[in-house]
Amino acid sequence: MASEKRGDEEAQADALGRHRHAGKVAKEVKEAIRGLVRPGVKCIDICETVERLIIEKGGRPAFPCNVSINNVAAHYTSPPGDSLTINEGDVVKVDFGVHVEGYIADTALTFCMNKEAERLAEAAREALKNAIELIAPGVETNVVGREIEKVIRDYGYRPLRELSGHILEQYVLHGSKVIPNVALPHGETINKGEVYAVEIFASTGSGGVSEAPYAYIFSLQPFFAPLRLKEARKIVMVVEKEYRTLPFAERWLATCFSRGKLRVALRELVSKGVLRQYRVLSDRKGSYVAQAEETVIVADDGCEVIT
Ligand code: MN
Ligand code: MN
Repeated sequence: MASEKRGDEEAQADALGRHRHAGKVAKEVKEAIRGLVRPGVKCIDICETVERLIIEKGGRPAFPCNVSINNVAAHYTSPPGDSLTINEGDVVKVDFGVHVEGYIADTALTFCMNKEAERLAEAAREALKNAIELIAPGVETNVVGREIEKVIRDYGYRPLRELSGHILEQYVLHGSKVIPNVALPHGETINKGEVYAVEIFASTGSGGVSEAPYAYIFSLQPFFAPLRLKEARKIVMVVEKEYRTLPFAERWLATCFSRGKLRVALRELVSKGVLRQYRVLSDRKGSYVAQAEETVIVADDGCEVIT
C-alpha cells in the first residue's frame, strides 16, 4: 500500500540521517586525534580520549576504541589500568565507531611511527579508495573483494583473509553481509540504501590471523542462562541498558566492580554463552598490519562516504 510504502521510505530516511549524524561525529573525532598518536603516549589515553570525544560531540561509542599495534590486527582495547605505550617504529591502527540511536559509523586510521610501513598504509588506503569507487547497487561483494586483494598484492603485501567489511544495521555492528578483503568465488548483491563499513587490512605477514587467549571486548548474545554470580547478573543488567547488543569494554565496567570480581563474572558469562568475547587477533610476530576503513551509504549509482 502506498501509505505503508511512504512510511518505509520515511523510516529509511530517518535511519540514514542518523547514520550521517554518526558519520559527522566520527569525522570530527578523526580530525581531533591527528596529533594524538605518537611515541610515549599510552594506549589507554588514546582509547579514553576517542571515547570521550565521541560523547562530547553528541554520539555514543558503537564499540570500544581499538588501538592495535604492529602485528596486532584487531580487537585490542586497553584493559583497566593498561600501561601499554606507543613506541618509536610502531604501526598503530585506531579503529572506532559512533552510534546515534543504534545507527553506526565505523572508521579506522593507521598511524606510522615507521617510515617503511608508510607504503603498507598506502596500500590499505588505495585498496579502500578503489573499493569505494566500485560500490554501487547491483555490484557483487566478491567483485569488490577481488579488487581489494589485487591492489594489496600489487604492492607486494597480503590482505587479511579472515577480516572483512560488513553491513551495519541498527544496534548490529556486524550484520549478515560482508565485503571480503580477498577474491571469493561467490558474493552477495549490494543494494541501494544499505550501509557498509568498508574495511581493509594489509599485512607484511602471512595474511592470516590467530586468536590470543585473552579478550577485553565482549557483547551480549540473544540468549540467557541461569547465572551463579550476582556480579554476572548485574553485568547483564548494565549491558542491556547501556550497550544493548553492541560490543563493550571490560574497562567500561571497571567503575562498577572490582577487577578480580569483574574477570570472574565475565568468565562465567562467556562460558555460559551469554556474552561473546572478541579475542585479540594478530598476524605473525614481527609483521606489520595496516588498516583503512570508512562507512558508506549505497546510493543510486555509487556510494556516499559518511565518515
Ligand atoms: Mn572499525
Ligand atoms: Mn568495522
